[in-house]
Amino acid sequence: MAKYIFIVGGVMSGVGKGVATSSIGKILQHYGYKVTAIKIDPYINVDAGTMNPVEHGEVFVTEDGLESDQDLGNYERFLDKDMYRFNYMTTGAVYESVIHKERNLEYGGKCVEVVPHIPKEVISRIEFAAKKTNADFTLVEVGGTVGEYQNLLFLEAARMMKLNNPAQVMFVMVSYLPIPDKVGEMKTKPTQYAVRTLNTAGIQPDFIIARSRKPLDDPRKKKIAINCNIKQDDVISAPDIETIYEVPVNFEKQGLAEKIIKKFEMFRNGRGGMEKKPMKNKKLALKWNTFVKKIKRLDNLSNKKIVNIGIIGKYFATGKFVLVDSYISVIEAIKHAAWHNGYWPNIEWIDSEQYEKDPKKLKELKEYDGIVVPGGFGSRGVEGKIKTIGFARKEKIPYFGLCYGMQLAVIEVGRNLAKLKGANSTEINSDTSYPIIGISEDQKTNIKNRHYGGSMRLGAYPCELKKGSISRKAYGDKTVLERHRHRYELNNEFRDKLKEAGLEAMGINRERDLVEIVELKNHPFFVGVQFHPEFKSRPLEPHPLFKEFIKSAIKRKNKK
Ligand code: GLN
Repeated sequence: MAKYIFIVGGVMSGVGKGVATSSIGKILQHYGYKVTAIKIDPYINVDAGTMNPVEHGEVFVTEDGLESDQDLGNYERFLDKDMYRFNYMTTGAVYESVIHKERNLEYGGKCVEVVPHIPKEVISRIEFAAKKTNADFTLVEVGGTVGEYQNLLFLEAARMMKLNNPAQVMFVMVSYLPIPDKVGEMKTKPTQYAVRTLNTAGIQPDFIIARSRKPLDDPRKKKIAINCNIKQDDVISAPDIETIYEVPVNFEKQGLAEKIIKKFEMFRNGRGGMEKKPMKNKKLALKWNTFVKKIKRLDNLSNKKIVNIGIIGKYFATGKFVLVDSYISVIEAIKHAAWHNGYWPNIEWIDSEQYEKDPKKLKELKEYDGIVVPGGFGSRGVEGKIKTIGFARKEKIPYFGLCYGMQLAVIEVGRNLAKLKGANSTEINSDTSYPIIGISEDQKTNIKNRHYGGSMRLGAYPCELKKGSISRKAYGDKTVLERHRHRYELNNEFRDKLKEAGLEAMGINRERDLVEIVELKNHPFFVGVQFHPEFKSRPLEPHPLFKEFIKSAIKRKNKK
């Protein structure tokens, strides 16, 4: 029988609920269980696609083309499983379908109300995901923090599920324990209040994961246990650690998976309990643990081998922290690939706008072993990015362009090698004499009708790789599936001109004859991809193109 574990946040947001959820999933997988995860975002936006990255962080795209939250990326990376539309919901999406059903007379003439109809819709979505994936455990991460007005209806759904099936539902609160500098002591009171607030929603946590700068000691465990009505053993210490991938290891040291499984057995009272005995799949667990050991060793080597990668971005409005959030999958993909190659990546953010003001500064880029221009929108900082790409091309610095980074590389080569003066994307200049990056008719209509939500080219499309290309060699496959999120495309009218200039289309979507990959001749690595390979990189299985890019960056480093 399917089991549900709700993960809620106490005290404050941003303490790693997504990683905690993913890690609980991982350790349950190590016991041979099938696991899936759902992220609930309490905002009204139907999906994350229309929000700007400063507002939201990365928009993670699933195989089936949903623009979702970056936590789905964590689930995919930890659980090594693809997520789909049914793994995500927002308040907006839930209301949208309830209203749609009401218009279709699906409530049989009843008055449709916030309670119970909204929580019921939430429950049916959760159960649908469990059924669809045939999961033993469905983890449901409720976004935000308890006590917020916004997520109340989701907590209400959780409460109703527990009431209807007590043996199948469990609650985990991920809370934060501050250590105020002046006090120097870890404080449990905010967590006590958070649990009380959760209690007012009719929910008692079964486990508390105590996030803090330091490990939790026994006196504080006891305090939490007494005041939060929970066994001391069920308070899990989760101190800050170097790498998020160590979190499952840390949980397992405290026997969390076995505790969860035992508790479900206790709930059972003869009905609906766990069917399998807790038996660790040693081989699976070992694989993950070996990986974590390896990255810790790479980090602590006395002569740490470092590869320097520069990412050119523009989202500096609220400082560099925003960037980390906006490009989390790119960063993780670089890490996976570097670790795989036995190196530690040093990732730096480069503000492209500085090169527009002062092109002389471009020389500084020689410091880097590899340069990435990731996805982006709009014209700000674009000319600086194009200059950067030109520099990487001439200096033979490995260059990897992701989506916008591919389009801008095409513009750079178009202008400077193919001599198409003023070549541009129509996104940046609609009157350009050489619209080398253009837009399809259906996308034109979308824009004209202001139909922006969920209307880009989204999700996985097949891409056929040309023989003899870097990409074909890297993938070792003839056709690959990669995820997209963009409106503009390489304009096929310029394909031959670009080829003459040395930039060849090496990956094609046959069905629509779209260029998906370009590669430059006589350069160690100058590859642009119209898709987002970063979404498919996994810690134990880094993305082939990132692996190849990093390999070439390491080569440059060792030549220096
Ligand atoms: N702005 C470009 C487009 O819409 C690229 C988008 C992206 O990089 N994700 O086509």
